[in-house]
This record gives sequence, C-alpha cells and structure tokens, in this order.
Amino acid sequence: MTHLVKEGALVTVAHDVPTRQLSVSAVTPPSASPRLVAAVVRGQRIAIPCFDWCVVDHTAESLADLSDLAHYGARISLPVPQFSGAPEHVLIAYMAQWPFARDEHRGLPYVALEACDDGDVTEIRKAAAQALADQIRAHAAALDTLADQLPESPA
Ligand SMILES: [Zn+2]
Repeated sequence: MTHLVKEGALVTVAHDVPTRQLSVSAVTPPSASPRLVAAVVRGQRIAIPCFDWCVVDHTAESLADLSDLAHYGARISLPVPQFSGAPEHVLIAYMAQWPFARDEHRGLPYVALEACDDGDVTEIRKAAAQALADQIRAHAAALDTLADQLPESPA
C-alpha cells in the first residue's frame, strides 16, 4: 500500500519532524479530540484542528495550500544491534494525517511504517497496525525462546 509520489513527500516532511526515540511503554495513546492551533496558509494565519499526538509546529510552516497541511506524531523505532557500526533502527512508526488531502485515507489518520530507515514508507490503518503489533509480540516470544536456550552470560 505504498504510493510512490506521496512516499517521497512523506519522507521529505518526516525528516523535518523532530525525531524522538521512544520506548513502547512511553507512547501515549492518541487523543480523540483535536485542539485548535495556528497555521499559516498562503500567508494567512488560520486556526486548524491538531491532535495531541502531533509534534509539528504548524506556526513555523508556510504552506502554499491547505492540502499541504500534514500532522505527524513522534517516531518510535526498535534499535537492533549490528556486528559492525551503530545499532540499526527498524520498525519505525509514527502517526500521520493529511486532513485535506484527497487520497486513499480520505484525510483520516494512519500509521506510517518503515521496516528499515530507508525511506520506504507503508501507510497502515488500525487493523493492519494491530495485526503487525501481534506479529511483533509473537516474534519477541520466539526470541525469548532462543535466549532461554543460551547459557548464562559470564559476569
Ligand atoms: Zn498537527
């Protein structure tokens, strides 16, 4: 369910969003009620609804069109150790919404998902996100089983 043109736009904008690495337990469930914040569209300051999960400073943006308005949440990722180099962050996910875009999401929020930090963004809705979370829990259980078969690490 990736859209190449939008994917490029998503990556460009997403990299402008402040990155915060959060543990899964630190993620706050999204609020259902939006708050009004100021945004600048065609030089005009207007009030737009923005969700508690959004980390975009809309007042710092100058949008050419209302359809360019996007909300992004904080990124979460799983750092995985590698043989060489720094840990690689995988399963990067964040809330996203283009409220005035005419696309397959009809302006509704979704989860943007990158398997690796390579810019290949998949957009998933609630059922798919919940199914993936189930798969990740099952994978963690399988990893626990592997770890249980190892001898204790030397002190
Ligand atoms: Zn917002």
